[in-house]
Amino acid sequence: MKHLLSIRDLDADTLTALLDDADRFAEVLTRSVPKVPALRGKTVVLAFFEDSTRTRSSFDLAARRLSADVVNFAAGSSSLSKGESLRDTVETIHAMGIDAMVVRHRSSGAPGQISEWIDASIVNAGDGWHQHPTQALLDSFVLRRRLGSLEGRHIAIVGDIAHSRVARSNMEAFTALGARVTIVGPETLMPASVSPWNVEVAHSLDPLLGELDAVYLLRIQNERLDEVLIPSNREFRSRFGLTAERARRLPDHAVICHPGPMNLGVEIDREVTANDTRVAVLDQVAAGVPVRMAVLYHVLGPGRFPAGDAGTPASAEEVV
Ligand code: ASP
Repeated sequence: MKHLLSIRDLDADTLTALLDDADRFAEVLTRSVPKVPALRGKTVVLAFFEDSTRTRSSFDLAARRLSADVVNFAAGSSSLSKGESLRDTVETIHAMGIDAMVVRHRSSGAPGQISEWIDASIVNAGDGWHQHPTQALLDSFVLRRRLGSLEGRHIAIVGDIAHSRVARSNMEAFTALGARVTIVGPETLMPASVSPWNVEVAHSLDPLLGELDAVYLLRIQNERLDEVLIPSNREFRSRFGLTAERARRLPDHAVICHPGPMNLGVEIDREVTANDTRVAVLDQVAAGVPVRMAVLYHVLGPGRFPAGDAGTPASAEEVV
């Protein structure tokens, strides 16, 4: 696999291989030196043209845990602000000699476009409404760990489906791994057509609660909206928010996920995030590192992990 642009490009076996490798990398992260020399000599550029907290720092850590060199490119302080085009910018970075570029961009399709301009592995770290494949992988990783398997599990993805790249990637990953997925939200926040996905649609969360194995809450993507699509946050919460009362109606084994950043009191209440052990939000953040290690290893390394001596724990001297 040279690039990771979309979950659609991965079949169920590749998804499972990535998750299995993420399990192996999670073990590496428990060692006293949580680092392997697998990508020593490789250079990874983090090119974030849109804001990020979790994704950027976990890609950074993931690359360093694999002993790659990491260059952080900050769009705000680059020559883009002097009018340089995206193509000139990425070709300039590429000319310095890099092996992979992790790209976040507000335009759907930007990472795919960049993969045609430069000869480096491109990993999509979120493009517009389109895809956020490593988020879907880390969510699948957490659900697999908490539920054993996604096969036959019923997962509701709730909220702003229309403008969410996380929803698109997750619908594809969860269904590819055998889950039954229902997307839930007001008509105005649903995609124009759901025919590309094998999912069910509901406009009310309440009737589903008792039968869900996981509920995945999404933020309303206000930065991508130029019109008001819900009457108010309060009204949204009253119909779709995970209040403590709704959480009580979920099965004991159900997993509660949110990709962050969370709007407490809108899609999920503080009372739920503070007290309910079924909330997996910090597990999701933690999973970002081993899952992104697996992705970088698949695009830059010799295939499955461990290969040769790549899995040998690096000694402290070896990695400094
Ligand atoms: N952090 C996720 C993303 O970058 C979800 C969100 O922003 O709502 O898409």
